[in-house]
Amino acid sequence: MKQTPLSELGEFGLIARLTEKIQIKNTSTIIGVGDDAAVLNFPDHKIVITTDLLTEGIHFNLMYVPLKHLGYKAVVVNLSDVYAMNAIPRQITVSIAISSKFSLEAVEELYSGIHLACEKYGVDLIGGDTTSSLTGLIISVTAIGEANEDELVYRSGAKVGDLVCVSGDLGGAYMGLQLLERENEVFKVNPNQQPQFEGYDYILERQLKPEARADFKELMKTLNIKPTSMIDISDGLSSEVLHLCKASKVGCNIYEEKIPLDQQTKEFAEELSINPLVAALNGGEDYELLFTVPLGSYDLIKKEFDITIIGHITPEGEGANLITTGGSVIPLQAQGWNPLMNKKD
Ligand code: ADP
Ligand code: MG
Repeated sequence: MKQTPLSELGEFGLIARLTEKIQIKNTSTIIGVGDDAAVLNFPDHKIVITTDLLTEGIHFNLMYVPLKHLGYKAVVVNLSDVYAMNAIPRQITVSIAISSKFSLEAVEELYSGIHLACEKYGVDLIGGDTTSSLTGLIISVTAIGEANEDELVYRSGAKVGDLVCVSGDLGGAYMGLQLLERENEVFKVNPNQQPQFEGYDYILERQLKPEARADFKELMKTLNIKPTSMIDISDGLSSEVLHLCKASKVGCNIYEEKIPLDQQTKEFAEELSINPLVAALNGGEDYELLFTVPLGSYDLIKKEFDITIIGHITPEGEGANLITTGGSVIPLQAQGWNPLMNKKD
């Protein structure tokens, strides 16, 4: 395929190319790309804003992450934070720093993923910034969302006796990453060998093309349940449970046998001789929601097949514990991705 050097377009030419197809979807977007700043309008609603910064070599490896997927994921991880506030995302801004190793076609590939996520989640791309980098790619997305004041759910609202729940299943994204890294090592040694991905489409998708829980707010509305606290699971269950307990000044018991794991997560963990529970507790990037509901919601919540009750809230002094299948009590420890330890965040 033809590779057009970015120098042929210049900064403004590139911005024009990347933003020419944008069609505004939300009435709250008055002005998007094109002026010195975007203009938004949210009568009577509270605004939530969240941002993430992704760096090549730290957060993603372009050896095995396609640019389109990277663009999609960079948007989705931000939307997940908005959903974790029980708000609805409406706009994003995207800022990129690119080195000369990227062609116009490569940056357009990245943006095709960004635009796809905007379509799927109904958000408007309203601006950003474009600059150069000496080495790799840096991408920063900011998401803006809205909610009624009484709909917002914070990390700090969990009460003793509440049920601790998660959406979906956990550990899949981490196992997908292990698979990609394994095949990348094989490729480095023998570039002619085809990667062995068969039977692992689900965990690969969890890693490369995660989705945010856009359905959750509506589901809770239909059940007439308001979560007392919520956080999205980006750094592994352990780390998020500890954040939630700390913010709410409570403890909790989480039951090992309740933690939802997909079949492929278990199978690949077995292949690598690791405990899939470790992937769920310490892996990260699942972008599911961890939340608490009052005990009285038990019957309603239990019926939801995509939601699992994994434990309950206890007084702060009891700490945040994992109760193993054998009945041992193990204090949960945060081993989330830490950029200062050269891992992800
Ligand atoms: P300024 O000089 O005010 O920073 P720019 O020339 O950087 O303006 O940007 C012009 C317009 O294009 C602005 O609306 C800005 O938000 C938007 N924009 C710039 N870079 C990007 C990008 N990478 N993605 C989306 N919109 C962008
Ligand atoms: Mg600018």
